[in-house]
Parts: sequence; C-alpha cells; structure tokens
Amino acid sequence: MKIKTRFAPSPTGYLHIGNIRTALYSWLFSKKNKGNFVLRIENTDLKRSKEFFVKNILEILKWLNIDWDEGPYFQNKRINRYNDVINYMLKNGTAYKCYCSQKKLEKKRNEQIINGEKIKYDRTCYNSIKKNNNKSYAVRFLIPNNNKYITFIDTIRGKIIFNNNELEDFIIKRTDGIPTYNFCVVIDDWDMKITHVIRGEEHINNTPKQIHIINAIGANIPIYTHVSIITDDLGKKISKRNHNVNISEYKEKGYLPDALLNYILLLGWSYGNKEIFSLEEMKKLFNLKNLHKSSSTFNIKKLNWFNKHYLSKLSKKNMVIYLKLFCKKHNIKIDNNPSIEDLYKFFNNRLNTLDEINNLFYIFYKHIYYQNNFLIKKYLNLNTKIILNIFLKKFNDIQIWSIDNINIFLKKISSKLNITFPKLAMTLRPAITGLINTPPINNIIFLMGKKKIINRIKKSINFIETNKQ
Ligand code: GLU
Ligand code: ZN
Repeated sequence: MKIKTRFAPSPTGYLHIGNIRTALYSWLFSKKNKGNFVLRIENTDLKRSKEFFVKNILEILKWLNIDWDEGPYFQNKRINRYNDVINYMLKNGTAYKCYCSQKKLEKKRNEQIINGEKIKYDRTCYNSIKKNNNKSYAVRFLIPNNNKYITFIDTIRGKIIFNNNELEDFIIKRTDGIPTYNFCVVIDDWDMKITHVIRGEEHINNTPKQIHIINAIGANIPIYTHVSIITDDLGKKISKRNHNVNISEYKEKGYLPDALLNYILLLGWSYGNKEIFSLEEMKKLFNLKNLHKSSSTFNIKKLNWFNKHYLSKLSKKNMVIYLKLFCKKHNIKIDNNPSIEDLYKFFNNRLNTLDEINNLFYIFYKHIYYQNNFLIKKYLNLNTKIILNIFLKKFNDIQIWSIDNINIFLKKISSKLNITFPKLAMTLRPAITGLINTPPINNIIFLMGKKKIINRIKKSINFIETNKQ
C-alpha cells in the first residue's frame, strides 16, 4: 500500500509554527516511506477563508522547500462531490434532515442548561414523520446506537475511547448548503486515499465523529497521529493572539528556511541528542515512534541559536546576496566604506537574524545625528572634546590601515590622555555613530576608513560647540 499523507490548512489566517510542524511531519513521513504528500486547502468556511491566506500558504511552503506530489486541492471546488455523498447518506438513513430554526435550537439548549441536562440535539426531526419540503434544512449525521463506545488507536497516545452517548447528531451540511469540516475531511481523505493523518492534538475530539462517517460510507480508517501542543515558557499554548507564531514574520526578519525547519522538527520529535539535521537527514531519519507525548516549549533563543548556526554555514556568495537583500529592505545604501565583503568578514558569525544588520550596518552609511539627550551630553561635552581633538590631531599617524595599528593607536591616545581605554571608547562611540552601544569601536573605525572617521569626529566636535552651555 502506498503511504499517503496530507497537509490540510484552512486559509483563515497566516501559517503559523504549529501548522508548519504538522506539514513538516506529514511531508517527512511520506518522504521517508517513499509515499505521496497531498496539499489540500480547507476553505469551506466561506466567510473566514481569504485568497491572500491561500497565497501565503503556497508561498511559505515553497520558501521552506516543502513540496507536494498532489494538489493543491480546494474544498470549495468539491461541493458537488460532498453533496452526492450526503444524498446517498440521506437515502440509506445514516443522515437526516433537520428543519429546526436557530432560535428553536437555542431555546432547547437553554432549557437543557437550566435543567442541568447534557447539551445535545434532541432528534426532533429524526423522530418526526413530517416533511417540510419547502423549508431550508441542515443535514445531521445519525450517531448509530449499535455500540456504546467508539475507539481508535492514536500513534502517540494509544487507544482512545469515546462514549457515543457524549456525541450528538452533528451537522454535516449547514442550512446554507455548505458541508462542514468534519464531513469534508472524511470524504477528501477517502477520495485522496490518505493512509496517515498527522495533525494537531486539538483535533482529537473530532476524530470519533470522523470515524462514524467513515463507517457509514464504508471508507477505510486512516492511522491517526495527533501531535502534542506547543507552549510558551509559562506553559501556555502558543497562539496567534498572544505570541509571534506567524511564519511570514520569521521570513521577513531573516530567519533561514533550513534553520526554521530544523528548529520546528525538534518541537515534538527527537533523535537521541542530535540537533542539526539537513533536509536529507530529516527525510531519512524521521519516524512517528520518536514523537513526544508531552508538550513542547517554543523558545526563541533556541531558534536564534539554530539560525545563527545556519547563517554561519552559508557560503560567502549566498551570505552576501542575503546581506544585500536586507540592506535594501532597510534602505541602507552600501558604499565602499565599508564594502559589503568587509561587513561579511566582521559580522558573519555574529548575526542571529539577517534583520539585525539594520542595527549593525546602518551606523556606517546613514546620516548620523546626535540626540541632544542626557546620555549623549554625558559623553559629548567640553571635557570629552579635548579627547576628540587629540584623537583627530594624531589620527593621521596611523600609516598602514589595519586593526592592529588601530589598536596600537587607541592605546597610545589613552595613555597620552591618561584615561582608561573604556573611557576613550565611550567617547568615540557616540561621536562616530551617535549611539551608546555599538560593536567594538576598533572594528568600526577599521571598517569605516579614515575619511569617514575624520568627518564624523569633526561633526561631533561641532555638535559639542553648538550645544555647549
Ligand atoms: N483544516 C484543519 C486545520 O487547519 C486541518 C484538519 C485536519 O488535519 O484534519 O486545523
Ligand atoms: Zn431539527
């Protein structure tokens, strides 16, 4: 039997970490077993489904190199097929029409709450012989009473048992004529010959309903794997509302696809202590056996660690391409002081994300200005002006432009002025960059080159003079 898995996102929001994790696991499981991977867009929620979310799904999967063998299928194009099956079920009695109005259903629900009864549809329409041919109706699935329990085996959790009594005759087609999620999923998985369903834990409660439908139509029951939730440091389930889980944002910030995939792979799966997995390794080593039963914690520091690792492994050529791209994004116009290659040399192993170059690189190229605030005043004032003047006077003494010579020069200046090296650096930093916190000042001086440094020191002296009190 050919293994077939699927990723079935609903285009009602941007793809998030949890989505990609189920996509990745499903994809890897199909690859490992030489099976097929199906992409299906579950867009029967017409109000909340949006075309740009569909675009986002396709774009992100492509960016992550998660390719599919079939699809994308769209559920809204399969409505006729769903209706055929629903008509068949209406005929063979596994489903029935419900003419109850929303108001009537609500009233009954409230009564059940008041009486302390279980909230459940009371089968009025199943028991009535009346036919309301002109009225709009929903279609409900008839929960069979041949068994008290419905059970299934979950790969991670083992046997899961549901009491049929707990289930009501749920709606499989709404009054607006659109079939519901639990129904469409079953027909799709059946038609698409899906053998393994890998999805989030939140779908466990849907599984008994889906198995009931599968039994009613005589389809095969797939193997279910419900992956455990992802939480934050405080143990709270990560959600779109409270956490940054949107994959597009990680892409924008300059996380590399391989780093993100590697990190997400380990959010719920492990292979001994191995941490770094190439795509090929993932495809070869992934299994369902090693999925974790307990929840996983999302940790941005760990993700940054992976990203830093993957950034440092990029070839110089690729890194320079990325750097240029992100400079453009931040409107940083690179000239030769320093060149992008020089920046690469210095910052290659220091970036967590490509977006960090915004803070690191712009000091070299953008017009600096001194905020007339307390901190700048503390470092740029008439006392430190003496330091800056001496620096400027002696600066041309540096004959050969090298980090070593700059270090020697800076040491000479600090001993000549009888000040500590940190004090000297804390004067030069704001003078040259307008900032208090920067990468090591000797690197900055080296990268910027003589001319720019002279200009900036002069500018800072000017600032002190015009702002003196
Ligand atoms: N469309 C569902 C979701 O986005 C997935 C359903 C499934 O995997 O069975 O949560
Ligand atoms: Zn009814």
